[in-house]
Amino acid sequence: MEATLAAPSSLTSLPFRTNSSFGSPSLLFRSPLSSVSMTTTTTARGNVAVAAVATSTEALRKGIAEFYNETSGLWEDIWGDHMHHGFYDPDSSVQLSDSGHREAQIRMIEESLRFAGVTDEEEEKKIKKVVDVGCGIGGSSRYLASKFGAECIGITLSPVQAKRANDLAAAQSLSHRVSFQVADALDQPFEDGKFDLVWSMESGEHMPDKDKFVKELVRVAAPGGRIIIVTWCHRNLSAGEKALQPWEQNILDKICKTFYLPAWCSTDDYVKLLQSHSLQDIKCADWSENVAPFWPAVIRTALTWNGLVSLLRSGMKSIKGALTMPLMIEGYKKGVIKFGIITCQKPL
Ligand code: SAH
Repeated sequence: MEATLAAPSSLTSLPFRTNSSFGSPSLLFRSPLSSVSMTTTTTARGNVAVAAVATSTEALRKGIAEFYNETSGLWEDIWGDHMHHGFYDPDSSVQLSDSGHREAQIRMIEESLRFAGVTDEEEEKKIKKVVDVGCGIGGSSRYLASKFGAECIGITLSPVQAKRANDLAAAQSLSHRVSFQVADALDQPFEDGKFDLVWSMESGEHMPDKDKFVKELVRVAAPGGRIIIVTWCHRNLSAGEKALQPWEQNILDKICKTFYLPAWCSTDDYVKLLQSHSLQDIKCADWSENVAPFWPAVIRTALTWNGLVSLLRSGMKSIKGALTMPLMIEGYKKGVIKFGIITCQKPL
């Protein structure tokens, strides 16, 4: 089944293809994916399509929650509380024995802040309230709250992660300033203009409706607030190119199934979405080379005795995740996967 729904404007018309493993066949959409309200305005054929999308979006949300409920403990045991790539100097060869990976994950946070222009004390002082959208077990939130002396709220779809994140905050005596809850990034339980820093570290790839995702990030940002999106993207399409090559799409589809991801978009797509909101200082970069040592290191860890035992104990989702890691490496090597950062500032 294929459906094309009229987009309200050309800027919201990025085509996102849902992954067939989430209850709907391949659908090409030209408007926000999960807006159930659209059923009232479309044709009978459109109604069917939108209902299928609502179902697939719900299935995706459930899949993401279950995936992180099951795998977060294993990740924390082996890699600690940051569930994101490390940032390395290009061409650095990092061996398993190096203690450099955790520092590289912290460096990812620091490099992201620097890229976004949070470079001096003056800028740091302005950050009093932070939202961590897709917070995992709260590694970024606790780090940012401590660094800025700020309040931080993290949201995740996984109840297990939210609980663990709150427990870790309590253990670090941060509960008065840092808290976590289960909430959807596409429908955030916060008033407009609340946060000086809107932080999304490797959660955007899970969002089935990038337009709505960006709208929510912009909505909750305070005037003058910064938005930082660090996320898995596919390569930018060249002029005249309408879609990725089938072999490229094939790699992404397999990754989507294991990691509970909807269709991917490019950094160019994010930039266009941000441009549609009159934001300032929109910047993006491709950090693929800086994260290249990461997945090989994760695989090496998984192949140790402790890694294998923990993996087997953790369950099928973790095992499937481990088996998919070589595809991430292949995707980067072949240039179809890009590790992107996109930042901007909301005008005062
Ligand atoms: N940012 C964290 C975790 C990245 S893992 C870190 O750097 O450690 C991806 C996270 O995105 C998970 O916590 C997952 O629950 C969250 N996520 C995915 N889709 C989401 C959604 N729609 N709403 C809220 N959180 C979401």
